Amino acid sequence: MLKIKAALYNNGDVEQYFKGLLASDTRPVPDYESYCLSCREMRTMISINRDEEFTIQHSDHEPKDSIKVIVESVPKHKCSTCGKVSTNVKLSAAIEEALDVQVKIHSGIKTIPFCSLVS
Ligand SMILES: [Zn+2]
Repeated sequence: MLKIKAALYNNGDVEQYFKGLLASDTRPVPDYESYCLSCREMRTMISINRDEEFTIQHSDHEPKDSIKVIVESVPKHKCSTCGKVSTNVKLSAAIEEALDVQVKIHSGIKTIPFCSLVS
């Protein structure tokens, strides 16, 4: 099925087909039910966006070479009852990986919109 879809839309180029799918995926981040560590109850976690600071290391051996980058409008979730904002560890790791590439391409970068990391 994948090869057929790639042949239909991207002349058989599977990588380009996937890039097209990713670019066209504009679904909102869903709310979900989860255990809130603060409330100690199952709660609805509501999708929100907020700016978040990430520290990127230039070198594995030189912590002083780290730089701080603000990522604007990062998708997060907050408890519908107490408002505690939770961190998606997998998302944060993926953002750090993407920022590592961006920092190497655009030296001196201080802020970057989240949407530019996923487009
Ligand atoms: Zn809560």
